[in-house]
Amino acid sequence: MIRFFNLYAFTTLIKNSVSMIVKLWIVSSVCVVFASSHGATEGAIKEYDLWPNTEYNIKIPTHTQVLGYKVGERITSYADMLRFFEALELAAPERIKLFEYGRTWEGRKLIYAAIGAPELIKDLDGFAKNMQKLSDPRVTNKQQVKGLQAVLPSSVWLEYGVHGNEISSTDAAMMTAYHLLAAPDEATNKKILSNTIVFIDPLQNPDGRTRFTQRYYATVGLAHSSDRMSAEQNEPWPQGRTNHYLFDMNRDWLAITQPETAGKVKILNHYRPLVVIDLHEMGGDKSYFFAPSAQPFNPYMTQNQIDNIGLIGRNHGKHFDRFGFDYFTREVYDAFYPGYGDSWPTFYGASASTYEVGSARGQAFQKNNGELLTYKDTVHKHFVASISTAEVVADNHEKLLKDVYQYQVDAIASGKADKKERVYLLPTQRDRAGAHKLATLMARHGVEVNQATESFKACGKDYSAGTYWIDTAQPRGKFVKTTFTKQVDMPNKFVKEQERRRARLLDHEIYDVTAWSLPLMFNIETDACNRVIKANSVSIDATHNLPGSVLNPQASVAFVVAWGDMAAVRFLTGALQQGLVVKSVDKAFGLEDKRVFPAGSLIIERRVNKADYADLVLVLADQSGASVIGVDSSWVIDGPSFGSSNTVTMSPPNIAMAWDEPVYPQSAGNTRFVIERQLHYPVTAIRIDMLTKSNLANYQVLILPSGDYQKSFDKSAVKNLKSWIQNGGVLVTFGKATQFVASSDVALLDVKREFAYKKSEEKKSIDKESAEKDKSRVKGQLYIEKQNLLDASEVQQKSPDNVAGILANVEVDQEHWLTAGVNKNVVALVTGSDIYAPITLNSGKNLAWFTGPETLLASGYLWQENKEQLAYKPFLIHQPLGKGMLVSFTQEPTTRAYLDGLNVLLTNSIFRAAAHAKPLR
Ligand SMILES: [Zn+2]
Repeated sequence: MIRFFNLYAFTTLIKNSVSMIVKLWIVSSVCVVFASSHGATEGAIKEYDLWPNTEYNIKIPTHTQVLGYKVGERITSYADMLRFFEALELAAPERIKLFEYGRTWEGRKLIYAAIGAPELIKDLDGFAKNMQKLSDPRVTNKQQVKGLQAVLPSSVWLEYGVHGNEISSTDAAMMTAYHLLAAPDEATNKKILSNTIVFIDPLQNPDGRTRFTQRYYATVGLAHSSDRMSAEQNEPWPQGRTNHYLFDMNRDWLAITQPETAGKVKILNHYRPLVVIDLHEMGGDKSYFFAPSAQPFNPYMTQNQIDNIGLIGRNHGKHFDRFGFDYFTREVYDAFYPGYGDSWPTFYGASASTYEVGSARGQAFQKNNGELLTYKDTVHKHFVASISTAEVVADNHEKLLKDVYQYQVDAIASGKADKKERVYLLPTQRDRAGAHKLATLMARHGVEVNQATESFKACGKDYSAGTYWIDTAQPRGKFVKTTFTKQVDMPNKFVKEQERRRARLLDHEIYDVTAWSLPLMFNIETDACNRVIKANSVSIDATHNLPGSVLNPQASVAFVVAWGDMAAVRFLTGALQQGLVVKSVDKAFGLEDKRVFPAGSLIIERRVNKADYADLVLVLADQSGASVIGVDSSWVIDGPSFGSSNTVTMSPPNIAMAWDEPVYPQSAGNTRFVIERQLHYPVTAIRIDMLTKSNLANYQVLILPSGDYQKSFDKSAVKNLKSWIQNGGVLVTFGKATQFVASSDVALLDVKREFAYKKSEEKKSIDKESAEKDKSRVKGQLYIEKQNLLDASEVQQKSPDNVAGILANVEVDQEHWLTAGVNKNVVALVTGSDIYAPITLNSGKNLAWFTGPETLLASGYLWQENKEQLAYKPFLIHQPLGKGMLVSFTQEPTTRAYLDGLNVLLTNSIFRAAAHAKPLR
């Protein structure tokens, strides 16, 4: 005890003064407890009852000692979680080590802990190096593999709380760490600690959890309420699920847009733990879910991985029966989408899965079956599942190491064996910035990416220097396949079952999107080749920058930037914020030197800018990656001249966007993120209450992300909005916001939503005459088969069937100023059931539309009826109104911030639209 006190005191001295106060507080509270428990022998901690017959070592600080409450008595805040882990590390630094792996948007530290025997914790980097060697059969021979498998420990990565309002997992993480450290001689722990490193990421979403805990405790009164109607049980907008930018980070593992995800990807690539578990919560009336997962599985997962997760599930069954916990498996939560926290790790070879516990969403929850669910119950279940997982990982040490190696061997072999798509190439293309982003994104995932430094031929086609390529005969080959191939099919049996359900008027069971091809979402041209590429190249890493350039920086007349990619977008938003005068041309033009520039291209003229403007252009080119060309003559040989009325002067618009109830949080957050962090331009979020009552004259653009606006806009608010548009405002609407402005009550956008189209409308309808006589009765009918019953029970004039998420081909008008510089073909994500009839020319114009039924589906699974009905229907509608206009997307262009291929269209909808509106200036 004395030694322990000294360790605390010593360590405290070398920390900074702020944390010193915190640490001293821990020391003093620990000492108080020790003093009061004087005379007790070691192992006399009586505080815990979550794992029977366990003696906890007095040297490890308990919940009460560090936090002042027992496990499960409070929903631990982010800061207290951190304090608890720091106290554990101080008490047992040889057996637990904490690491920071990143910072959240709001500046909170993201941490993970490694727990294990001292000899393992001492050399974690050595462990990581060996796991990396084991993961590459191209450099590690069979003999070396045997040697590695003999010395490597088993390893498990437990990640908690990616959804910030799924609260119990973080407290379970704390309990798991305490249990392993304070009871190393308990039988199961002993087995685990004999050969396994347990990694714990106790809180993947500190910003979301902080939002939850602060608001939760702010609503608590005299006593906790278990009533699901109480304020305590109902989180205010935007709830704690998401991070600062309101991302569902369990969907972010494909595009890695958030720093929290980026940190995890980096650290998992470093250690490559054998098993990864992501712990969640679900509705409080449900019990507990663990593997086996529901169908469908991603076809690039291996049977070994599925089997290993099955082993873990089976072990949970044993423990859960012992504790009397009820549970279910297989019925929901699939493993198809590769961007979940439990699917991404499978693509470096781990066995991974998700657990879900029915949530108390507070201190206590009244279940529909009459049982009272307490917070402690939920922590208990996740804790038991965590220990049970580590037990299986320890028991299957050899098998797991063998399987992870075999995964790499198989991945390389299947890449080599692919007779069609062994190699993916990203040729040099107009969207230079997009190709670069996709290449570096794959490098961040841990994929080997090459860029040619010379021109070459592959599969009979010529490629120029600068072409990127990825050979799938590499350990990450299967990840490349599932993210690059245009179509990943769900198993036939599953699809048939969904069609059967639909025919019986039952809901489908597709859990998330059915398409995610990155080249499609980024709208990047790719080729496939079945042979190894032979060309000089450099390998691309995650930090590789897109170089910008200025040709002829002494230009006497102007600088020109070709429009059409994100480098040009960043150049524009940077230039506007720096006060440069920028023109944009509505049509393509050609210069005397034969250079041709697409519509939308930017012109920065010497005559209207300040003397030092060329210096600024150089800086902006460097920051944005744009290719800028200086010209000494404004003579144009084709298309509009620099002084033509087919040019507009861009001005930096003030952009407002709707925020708070009833906007869908993710749509709001994702949209704000895309504008602020991808377009690099500020946006003002305005709460709906303020938005509907205020004068918006200070703003040139207002964005309504998806949401249930009917709830919040009364007649006067709609009138206010309309007069703002008429005075020159640009209203941009997405998804459900488009539905709102098109609704008959609002009637700002002159389009109508369609009912589901029915081929045969000759179904027998109610006999009107008899219905008028007696409204409670209908004409008699004869049914001759069961289908008649189904037909009669179907709602007439219903919406088209709901779509879980597919990628659709969209054709873009090439002659309108709003679509200047946008590719003729883009890809949109289609979800839900909204299909619109086109706008007529007397009101506006359809500027982008879904292609014909044969080509519409770019990727995923779409009901035949929807495919037929969606064909040639609008995706983007433009409608002038007074001096302003509406720009309406019938689907959301910013979902998950991974539809990069739509970003130029979105930029035009904001910046070119603002330049074309005619407010009184
Ligand atoms: Zn969750």
